[in-house]
Amino acid sequence: MSETFTSATNGADAAGMPARSRLSFDLDVDICVVGAGLAGLTVALEAARLGASVAVLEGRHVGWSASGHQLGTVMPGYGLPIGELIARIGLDDARELWSLSKEGAEYVRANATEEQIPGIALSEGALEVSNVEAGDALISRLQMLGGDFDTEVEGWQVDRVRAALKTGHYFHGVYYPRAFQLDGRRYLHGLAAMARRAGARIFEDTPVVSIDPSGIRKRIVTPSARLRASHIVLAGNVHLGAPLRRLSETLLPVWRYAAVTEPLGGRLAEAVTFRGSVSDSDGIDHFRIVEGDRLMWASPETTWAARPERFAPAIQRRIQTIFPQLGKVGISEVWGGAVGETVHGMPQIGQLRKGLWVASGFGRQGLNTTAMAGLLVARSILWGDERWRLFSPFELVWAGGATGRAAGYAIGLWGRGSAAAAGALARYRERARLKEQLREARLAEANRQAGTRPPRPRPPPGRPRPQPPPAANAADAEGSPP
Ligand SMILES: Cc1cc2nc3c(=O)[nH]c(=O)nc-3n(C[C@H](O)[C@H](O)[C@H](O)COP(=O)(O)OP(=O)(O)OC[C@H]3O[C@@H](n4cnc5c(N)ncnc54)[C@H](O)[C@@H]3O)c2cc1C
Repeated sequence: MSETFTSATNGADAAGMPARSRLSFDLDVDICVVGAGLAGLTVALEAARLGASVAVLEGRHVGWSASGHQLGTVMPGYGLPIGELIARIGLDDARELWSLSKEGAEYVRANATEEQIPGIALSEGALEVSNVEAGDALISRLQMLGGDFDTEVEGWQVDRVRAALKTGHYFHGVYYPRAFQLDGRRYLHGLAAMARRAGARIFEDTPVVSIDPSGIRKRIVTPSARLRASHIVLAGNVHLGAPLRRLSETLLPVWRYAAVTEPLGGRLAEAVTFRGSVSDSDGIDHFRIVEGDRLMWASPETTWAARPERFAPAIQRRIQTIFPQLGKVGISEVWGGAVGETVHGMPQIGQLRKGLWVASGFGRQGLNTTAMAGLLVARSILWGDERWRLFSPFELVWAGGATGRAAGYAIGLWGRGSAAAAGALARYRERARLKEQLREARLAEANRQAGTRPPRPRPPPGRPRPQPPPAANAADAEGSPP
């Protein structure tokens, strides 16, 4: 599967990377991990820390795909909205799954220290904003998150959201003070370095072309060597391909594109005073300020691989739509990566058959969930931790192949279109309400002035009183009784 990025560096993965090593000799290990993205590297780090011998086989290079091109926002939860999670598996299991997702986020936080990953630039707080007036829904969501799901959240009224983000596009907001952001690429390479230090061996340019998962010692074939392992962990996301094509086909690949603007100076500080990550409740835009006065912004999506540069104008227009005061911003870099979406919206974590594991399908929210998956799989293999079974209700469902991709794209477009329409309607209603309030205020003021106007001076006694105006019909007036 081909994938193109304008730049693989973005400043972060340029320097200090160890030379790539390809596997060119046969090897025996406890655990073989296929894929050196966030998921595979976390499994490798944890398994190596717990004393296993681990080999990671990566077909391209560390950070080649989504994991090396994400925006670094770490939130609790999953791609599947919390209400749907409860509807699907009930409140108790939903709470346990939610708490695992928080564990994943805290695991990232524990790794992402300046001592362990220099330059990681961790900063606190993320804001999820609504494109429509959603006051009531917001209150019940806050109650649920804060109460049943033990997650620190604050509800922001429209005024507060608009003081932080000077745009009429957003209404209410949910602020997550424990969410955070970091330099996503540095985190990925830091994770690889930590896994190596813990004893895991990472081989790049080493695609796995087939596996034989039968037997106690499983066989893994690459173009230049063979491995034997007691456990295989498939963490290849949508790129897995040949080793288990049926598994790849349970994921809908969605390419997401992001950009960093040129420095925007003081006008950005005026438009955006919030320093954390911002995402909208429809999953369309995701942005934050980086390097003081640049915007990092992800928005467009396709269900096929395209050249990221093509999306620079779309991101530019999107920024201008949300923050017209910024004008047409210059774009300095664009990139993209493929995320794997499952049909049910939850990640695939667990044991497919004895010794064959999967950790995939993390969608747009992969930092906390890959961390959680890495912990669960490594601890299950080495400690017998069975909590991955909480994911069992979310089976492997075929994502529909080429038809699924076309349908996924159409649904995505429709979803974005209807979210945009709902947003436009909400803003129209807001303007109409403001006009109405203004009209009522003017009316009230006019009434007040009429009520408090000083009485007309009475005519002095003796002077003739003003005569009423002549009746419209003089004959009527003359003929009326006295
Ligand atoms: C633009 C963008 C912004 C994002 N922002 C965020 C964010 O702010 N916060 C967040 O939580 N998530 C974000 N995400 C989502 C997140 O990046 C993904 O969910 C996550 O990186 C998925 O990790 P992964 O390890 O499953 O897959 P991948 O990163 O795709 O890694 C899989 C690896 O496996 C290798 N592989 C596959 N098959 C084989 C094989 N047969 N042999 C050898 N190697 C193989 C591939 O080469 C690849 O390197 C973003 C994604 C994108 C694209």
